[in-house]
Amino acid sequence: MINKTKFQVEQKAFKILKKTGMLIIDQVNGFCTVGAGNLAPLKYNQQINNMIKETSKLAKIFTSNSMPICLFLDNHEEDRPEYPFPPHCIKGTGEELLVTELEWLKQTDSLMISKDCINGFIGSIEKNTNKNLFIEWIKKNQIETLIVTGICTDICVLDFVLTCMSAINHQIIKPLSEIVVFSEACATYHMEQKDLDRLNLDQSMLHDQENYHQIGLKIMQMRGALISNKIIFKA
Ligand SMILES: [Zn+2]
Repeated sequence: MINKTKFQVEQKAFKILKKTGMLIIDQVNGFCTVGAGNLAPLKYNQQINNMIKETSKLAKIFTSNSMPICLFLDNHEEDRPEYPFPPHCIKGTGEELLVTELEWLKQTDSLMISKDCINGFIGSIEKNTNKNLFIEWIKKNQIETLIVTGICTDICVLDFVLTCMSAINHQIIKPLSEIVVFSEACATYHMEQKDLDRLNLDQSMLHDQENYHQIGLKIMQMRGALISNKIIFKA
């Protein structure tokens, strides 16, 4: 088990210069609201609260500048849970709904994509048509830079960002060329031994929040994503 944070990922401010979109991953009750479900925090969590606050702040600037926003919302059918994780964000439980602080986004023209798998890039593929709703959103809005926020840094954010970097190299998502992970608006979960016992999970599921947040950021940085703790808008 890792006890102490071993490293901090180097970060710098990012200035928005090109056509930019914002992505908000899984900021739903089931992952963020105290006591809302198996994968929700059991008590106040600073990293998660900060993520929601910074996400809402950035989204307000995007909205007031008529810049595009897309949201992924984890949403599972009751008979199809997601191994190795305990059941979470099951349709109709309320866990799959946006956190209260971001509910205002429902009154905007932001695109909301429900997903039933970790990787939102895959979850954006419509099953009957094979159309990728996320790629269509990028193309329709001619987005060149994507700012990514959300939970979990080392799971849903990581999988999406790595896949999206491949999609850029494979040239199927033009004109997107740059991914910026806004670290202050990302978070992951914390799972100790007592949580494993409560949820009857394997020892391998131990999860130190700060370490895995940094590990997630580091892997995305190694693959070419920019990791930034401050987003600056051009004057
Ligand atoms: Zn899920």
